[in-house]
Amino acid sequence: MALAFDEFGRPFIILREQDQKTRLRGIDAQKANIAAGKAVARILRSSLGPKGMDKMLQGPDGDITITNDGATILEQMDVDNQIAKLMVELSRSQDYEIGDGTTGVVVMAGALLEQAERQLDRGIHPIRIAEGYEMASRVAVEHLERIAQKFEFDINNFEPLVQTCMTTLSSKIVNRCKRSLAEIAVKAVLAVADLERRDVNLDLIKVEGKVGGKLEDTELIYGILIDKDMSHPQMPKHIEDAHIAILTCPFEPPKPKTKHKVDIDTVEKFETLRKQEQQYFDEMVQKCKDVGATLVICQWGFDDEANHLLMHRNLPAVRWVGGVELELIAIATGGRIVPRFQELTPEKLGKAGVVREKSFGTTKERMLYIEHCANSKAVTVFIRGGNKMMIEETKRSIHDALCVARNLIRNKSIVYGGGAAEIACSLAVDAAADKYPGVEQYAIRAFAEALDSVPMALAENSGLQPIETLSAVKSQQIKENIPFYGIDCNDVGTNDMREQNVFETLIGKQQQILLATQVVKMILKIDDVISNSEY
Ligand code: ADP
Repeated sequence: MALAFDEFGRPFIILREQDQKTRLRGIDAQKANIAAGKAVARILRSSLGPKGMDKMLQGPDGDITITNDGATILEQMDVDNQIAKLMVELSRSQDYEIGDGTTGVVVMAGALLEQAERQLDRGIHPIRIAEGYEMASRVAVEHLERIAQKFEFDINNFEPLVQTCMTTLSSKIVNRCKRSLAEIAVKAVLAVADLERRDVNLDLIKVEGKVGGKLEDTELIYGILIDKDMSHPQMPKHIEDAHIAILTCPFEPPKPKTKHKVDIDTVEKFETLRKQEQQYFDEMVQKCKDVGATLVICQWGFDDEANHLLMHRNLPAVRWVGGVELELIAIATGGRIVPRFQELTPEKLGKAGVVREKSFGTTKERMLYIEHCANSKAVTVFIRGGNKMMIEETKRSIHDALCVARNLIRNKSIVYGGGAAEIACSLAVDAAADKYPGVEQYAIRAFAEALDSVPMALAENSGLQPIETLSAVKSQQIKENIPFYGIDCNDVGTNDMREQNVFETLIGKQQQILLATQVVKMILKIDDVISNSEY
């Protein structure tokens, strides 16, 4: 494609290999784009909320993912259409910024597109719709600020944080254990949080999983977990106040290089060699003991004889620990990685309150817990579950809960979930529409209607009559002028989301509205689509 100008300076587009290209212009382009965006949103709509359905996605090599996390579903779907890709991006940015609300944001964008289509049919110019949406989104975001509630928590009273995380988890497969998982997520975040600066470094929280056991066995470890065991079954399984030597040098005598030859032709010679080897090894063990090490973690292995000797000399050891884990241990325990025995000094030892080995079930699977490390606040969430899919989905759910807890530490404001915040915003936007004399008024009203689609989807997914339920809740909000009423998805018996403890973070909800509006505006402003007809 090239842009050229005719003799009057008017631009025109030259399409090379015309027959291979398709071109959509004006209203057709907008309609096609809207249809693509809506198609993506429709897929996610049934996954929204506590009674939302899950999706099963098969990867290229046959692996299966079962999830209801919007970002994951879209990421795994191999979409070709460029507008559909924008929707995928939308969900991803919500995930990146906030971590939760990834389904809601796409549903919202889909509803905005649907409403835009109606306005286009009425003959309203797309730019007018885009401007109307922009104004409406500002009204909605400000209104959210107004209805938001602040709640206080501290390190001893973190119940409100747990409640909010539970709302996030209630829509996932893991909702059976939402209480315990929410507590784990909150404790993990509080363990690494800097409450003075109101910051949380989520990198310090590792999420590990191992197939087996029950979801209820999921635990929080104040330290690091490595998938290794002590090198000898008779070594102690519990070491208090461990001083750890972290070695990258092999725990064995140096091997003769290939060009040298050792002739052993008598038993005596063999005995001497053996003694020497043993002595060499003994010195290495002694060196570790001299500097005060009570545990050795090695990157390399050692043979059975060495292993036996280590056990005999009462120096527990772990072998074949990977480089990345070794580094993590060094950082957490404040130790240094030692490449040669000669360099081992007491200051280079890492320190940990407890190192213990735990075995799982009847299997021979064991793992090593390194807890209460000297240097770092790093924690690990260790997930158990019946199969790999369950563990992966739990990891994603925990990620959402961790993000929610982090967002609340950054900003203590919450709004009410179950569509309550959306209904309140819809009412506010609708009221604001009257103030605008221009054509934008229609777009603003359309925005208000689009906001209703979230509670409608929640109701629909819970098997309720969407329109009736929504109008009942809406009139309740208007009558009592209270923005806490939402959809009673779980049939608890009350619409009051305060009573149900269904909260969402203010920044998460605001971000959803802003991002969805941004993408829809972008789609509406496209009036020329030139593509290879192969796609
Ligand atoms: P997302 O990926 O966008 O977080 P979810 O599937 O987690 O999507 O659904 C979140 C929506 O479900 C939010 O609007 C939230 O308010 C609502 N929700 C969660 N738990 C409940 C509940 N117990 N009752 C009513 N609504 C709920």
